[in-house]
Amino acid sequence: MSLTQSKKLGLTSKILIGMGAGIILGLLLRNLFPDSSFINEYITEGFLHVIGTVFVSGLKMLVVPLVFISLVCGTCSLSDPSKLGRLGGKTIAFYLFTTAIAISVAISIAILVHPGNASLVSEGLSFNAKEAPSLSEVLINIVPTNPLQAMSEGNMLQIILFAVIFGFAISHIGERGKRVAALFNDLNEVIMRVVTLIMQLAPYGVFALMAKLALTLGLETFGSVVKYFFVVLGVLLIHGFIVYPSLLKLFTGLNPLIFIRKMRDVQLFAFSTASSNATLPVTIEAAEHRLGVDNKVASFTLPLGATINMDGTAIMQGVATVFIAQVYGVDLTITDYTMVVITATLASIGTAGVPGVGLIMLAMVLNQVGLPVEGIALIIGVDRLLDMVRTAVNVTGDSVATVIIAKSENEFDETTFNDTQAGKTAGSFNDQLHAK
Ligand code: ASP
Repeated sequence: MSLTQSKKLGLTSKILIGMGAGIILGLLLRNLFPDSSFINEYITEGFLHVIGTVFVSGLKMLVVPLVFISLVCGTCSLSDPSKLGRLGGKTIAFYLFTTAIAISVAISIAILVHPGNASLVSEGLSFNAKEAPSLSEVLINIVPTNPLQAMSEGNMLQIILFAVIFGFAISHIGERGKRVAALFNDLNEVIMRVVTLIMQLAPYGVFALMAKLALTLGLETFGSVVKYFFVVLGVLLIHGFIVYPSLLKLFTGLNPLIFIRKMRDVQLFAFSTASSNATLPVTIEAAEHRLGVDNKVASFTLPLGATINMDGTAIMQGVATVFIAQVYGVDLTITDYTMVVITATLASIGTAGVPGVGLIMLAMVLNQVGLPVEGIALIIGVDRLLDMVRTAVNVTGDSVATVIIAKSENEFDETTFNDTQAGKTAGSFNDQLHAK
């Protein structure tokens, strides 16, 4: 490939190449040197682990400052408190609505396909569920007693609350507020530029993450839960590629194909990191610069979504509950299913946007309907792959909601949405610097 060609390669293509190369390398090493301690020590847990972790840490490093700065900017330009209240109400209602659809579809398909089989119950199945927080704890925890501690712990709901109040105050103190707002707007530009810088590392980071995954993924248990795996995968794909695009078309009239195309990078980040939180900087960047959502809306809806809107997770929890009930031969009643819809919606709200937490929160759903929590041990082996896909669905759901809400609030730039080149992160960071 010539130099000019390689320069033109977009970020998505580079990430896909990194992903493919990583999987191939991982599979090759796994098959050529099955039990090599050298590979394990120096490649898997050495080189690949370092590169992959550095990349994910780089993304995580931006989350707290980005959410705080961006949300302060967003709220200080929303001086009307009723607009803020309406935005909050709409966002939460929409998130609950899509999660309820997701879990209902998941339960229905799982009942129809019947992935669980009683022969799967084996002796010695054990799983130590961590205690899931109660609803009152979740509510009390939204108010930070110390905002700096909230930031150092990355507690998203607390940061959101503090930033909203802070931004709101800025918009109500006249001239002085304008100066502070201008400072935050400048800081926002800086942090967004850092996001594009870190995004340039994605192909290498994704390469390392995928290679490590291919080297370490244990699929011994896959055989017995293959039906469960494909039911979850199927419902996730239906939700991502049919339900969301239809909602987008229905509520906004926008072309869903453009949306799907523009979401590709964000989905790839989510897929490789299995973390909505780590993907947040990329989601915000794409919503504002590629999809045309105003910062006022994106800065509020997306961090909130990465924290409470987990449709993909709810889908897994719905199918898993039905699956475990089938395995243990428990007949769930309509009331049980209603409880599952309610608790899985709450559980997905309480699920942090980090890898694997959805499975821990599943314990809460199982407890609610009296199913054995040890059943989780059955599906844990295939959860990593499903986690990657459901995280991609989670971030897509946040983005769909953001576009729909922004359009309804007239905080949306349709020209940017329709422009295929808008905000495209191609080439190198240098190209972008010069393009500005
Ligand atoms: N990994 C998911 C996310 O970050 C959460 C989960 O389902 O475990 O969105």
